[in-house]
Amino acid sequence: MVLAELGGRITHAIHQMRNVTIIDEKALNECLNEITRALLQSDVSFALVKEMQTNIKKIVNLQDLAAGHNKRRIIEQAIFGELCKMLDPGKPAFAPKKAKPSVVMFVGLQGAGKTTTCTKYAYYHQKKGYKPALVCADTFRAGAFDQLKQNATKAKIPFYGSYTESDPVKIAVEGVDRFKKENCDLIIVDTSGRHKQEASLFEEMRQVAEATKPDLVIFVMDSSIGQAAFDQAQAFKQSVAVGAVIITKMDGHAKGGGALSAVAATKSPVIFIGTGEHMDQFEVFDVKPFVNRLLG
Ligand code: GDP
Repeated sequence: MVLAELGGRITHAIHQMRNVTIIDEKALNECLNEITRALLQSDVSFALVKEMQTNIKKIVNLQDLAAGHNKRRIIEQAIFGELCKMLDPGKPAFAPKKAKPSVVMFVGLQGAGKTTTCTKYAYYHQKKGYKPALVCADTFRAGAFDQLKQNATKAKIPFYGSYTESDPVKIAVEGVDRFKKENCDLIIVDTSGRHKQEASLFEEMRQVAEATKPDLVIFVMDSSIGQAAFDQAQAFKQSVAVGAVIITKMDGHAKGGGALSAVAATKSPVIFIGTGEHMDQFEVFDVKPFVNRLLG
């Protein structure tokens, strides 16, 4: 189910309550069941949906609401609040500061859009007046360095990498050192991916993180991975200190639930979404406008 469809179904479930004269337990349950079905079909994890349902029931205590209360409004607000809560882990992600070197490390599975997103992230900050630089510590995928180089050149962003060195830790350290000396304030390290979650990938990530001491680790996730989102995000979080999430390919037929699950699994906020292959197809992610848009 695409995101707009999910929003449409939630809104429909809320509107259905307009047609009933008395909003009682039965009407509320019907509404919540429909929302539950819509969320599950959008790949939000079962545990998360269950928790949301319980919370809404706690907030909307129909017996205690005196006559005259606008029950439908209270229910709507509770649903809006819970959706926002699902997407907001309560603490903002680390934000790089100008003129002070920050290291940001990108992690994710191969094909998630990591390399593309690194450049988008660098380009976004460059336009805001930062001095970004890109380090390609992906020695696993042939062509990764060329791809980064090409993107970086197009955006006029300095880059570092090697065609011959096979140790990602060495490249990462050298790149970070070089750009610190060159007074770059946002040093972005692209790491290797794998087709699936493998011990060797996590070990490599751990080593790169230990050597470069990133201020922020960003987990890049393809929005179309479905119910696997929660487990995948959690596996990355258990290996490195993920502090933010970027969801890619939101322009496709993505199910929206992955974003909600990734936030829950990493306890980190979504900071941007990728909406296309181009450098500027990248949007800041804000919870309330997102949920507002979701609910139409
Ligand atoms: P990596 O292996 O994780 O580094 O993935 P890449 O950056 O090479 O991206 C894999 C593919 O996804 C490429 O063809 C990208 O152009 C494409 N891609 C990345 N982000 C987006 C996005 O937001 N929307 C779309 N439609 N394609 C994307």
